[in-house]
Amino acid sequence: MAYQGKLIIVAGPSGTGKGTIEDAIMAKFPDIQFSVSVTTRPRRDYEIEGEHYFFITKEAFYKLIDRDELVEWQEVYSKNGHLYGTLKSNIDAALEQGKLVLLDIDIKGGINVKKAYPEQSVSIFIKPPSIEALEQRLIHRRTDNQEQIRIRLERMPEEMELGQQFDYQIVNTDLNKAVNAFVEILEKEIYNINKGANKWV
Ligand code: 5GP
Repeated sequence: MAYQGKLIIVAGPSGTGKGTIEDAIMAKFPDIQFSVSVTTRPRRDYEIEGEHYFFITKEAFYKLIDRDELVEWQEVYSKNGHLYGTLKSNIDAALEQGKLVLLDIDIKGGINVKKAYPEQSVSIFIKPPSIEALEQRLIHRRTDNQEQIRIRLERMPEEMELGQQFDYQIVNTDLNKAVNAFVEILEKEIYNINKGANKWV
């Protein structure tokens, strides 16, 4: 096997274009599999059980916590306090099989996965070019009302601080450049091709 199993942890403030970058990466690297989390939030129309998430009840979620079956879990406040967690069994099985796993996770969750699997993970923080740019994106996205946007922006300084604990930071000013920076990190960290990716992109 050319490489061992590895976790690619991706986090960042909401509205930074993290999902779009991930989609581009998954399309370029078909051998990367998406880590399917458990969540108590309701399924959206386009989502598929077991592909986007495992949708479970709060009771089932608390059972997973009691049985120590989650690597990490968080109550994500911007999502009405719904619970999200990463299944230990999924991660361990994927690593044992030498798979590359991409985790789309909230910032604190990302830090906790890195702590749990320090040798097997690469953590990447996606950040907006500025608070103003993020505000514009959130306004144009039209998924948040003014109050939600204000709360998200207020949280930014703390999130940027936490982001410094990630191995790499990518500033998403331009989608193509951000995807290229991500590819460079993967080539260096996963595929052992070093074209000079720096710790701080
Ligand atoms: P959404 O409900 O929009 O799919 O996700 C809301 C947030 O939860 C996103 O920031 C996403 O990255 C995060 N998230 C998804 N899965 C997990 C998980 O297993 N653990 C943690 N801590 N956060 C997660």
